[in-house]
Amino acid sequence: MPMLLRDFHPQSKLVTPITRVDRPRFPAIDAHNHLGADFGGGWDQKPLSALLNLLDEAGIVKYIDLDGGWGEDLLNAHLDHFKQPAPERFQVFGGVDWSQWAARGDSFPEWAAGQLRAQQARGAQGLKIWKGLGLSVRDPQGTLVDVDDPRLLPIWETAGELGLPVMIHVADPVAFFDPVDATNERWEEIGANPEWAFTSPPYPPFLHILDGLAKLVARHPNTTFIGAHVGCYAENLAWVGALLDRCTNFYVDISARTGELGRQPYTARRFFLQYADRILFGSDAGPQPAAYRIIYRFLETEDEYFNYNTGPVPGQGRWYIYGLHLPDDVLEKVYFGNASRILNPG
Ligand SMILES: [Zn+2]
Repeated sequence: MPMLLRDFHPQSKLVTPITRVDRPRFPAIDAHNHLGADFGGGWDQKPLSALLNLLDEAGIVKYIDLDGGWGEDLLNAHLDHFKQPAPERFQVFGGVDWSQWAARGDSFPEWAAGQLRAQQARGAQGLKIWKGLGLSVRDPQGTLVDVDDPRLLPIWETAGELGLPVMIHVADPVAFFDPVDATNERWEEIGANPEWAFTSPPYPPFLHILDGLAKLVARHPNTTFIGAHVGCYAENLAWVGALLDRCTNFYVDISARTGELGRQPYTARRFFLQYADRILFGSDAGPQPAAYRIIYRFLETEDEYFNYNTGPVPGQGRWYIYGLHLPDDVLEKVYFGNASRILNPG
């Protein structure tokens, strides 16, 4: 009796505890999330009270909105809609408009650094670097730009000088760089989102891009970098730990990688204990209480073998996860302490 994989929804028959955790054990700062049209559900067009109700329900005391972008209008819209009426609940991050490099030529890096100053003067409290750096950003000659391209120094040094934390996402996940074939563990996810495949070649090797991230972070010790999604390499916590060891200006968020962390519970638990001062809570799933509940369950309970997604089939791969039952002192740092220390709140 043949059946397609997409129709197979097995129900686990394990009889083990199922713990519902509605609110985090400590007030939580969500250091990686979105509110804009493309990824965050378009909350800039919805009433703020509805958003605040969801955050209250989920125990989120502060929400980092990475969707300020680089155009004056978008950043102002987000600052006006979120930050201004509820300043203690939100931080909005700005960005770099790489498309300006072609027109501005050699003056681009200094211009972009000046834009950071202008964004901060208007109220931006961080810089979001999207995954295009290392994959699609090109210089005026049309050459693909490395993550650690020395020409971009003014951007990183200015962020450090201004105290703007840099939330950076490059390359990850690693399986997107493999051939899209029967051995690719994210085959279903790529099938649903073909534009997410960056098979190398023609794209640069994953580790070339990650090496660029490591060099970038090491070269700018006075700039705070937060490596998105567990330092952009949740599949290899030894690699991430080695960069955390080398660079005290490097931090990671755990957003959208509960599936990766939770399928390696022994390694992940050791990672949280060892780097408790360097890990920031985040969801990346919009202001969704159901998504938050899964992360709380993962961090706090001993529950075994559960879905890391809100949908019936986990989206990043067909595996289940195990709770880390982290101790209170680690939970407090990950949920709140680390972010409140480094994200320049206010
Ligand atoms: Zn994100």
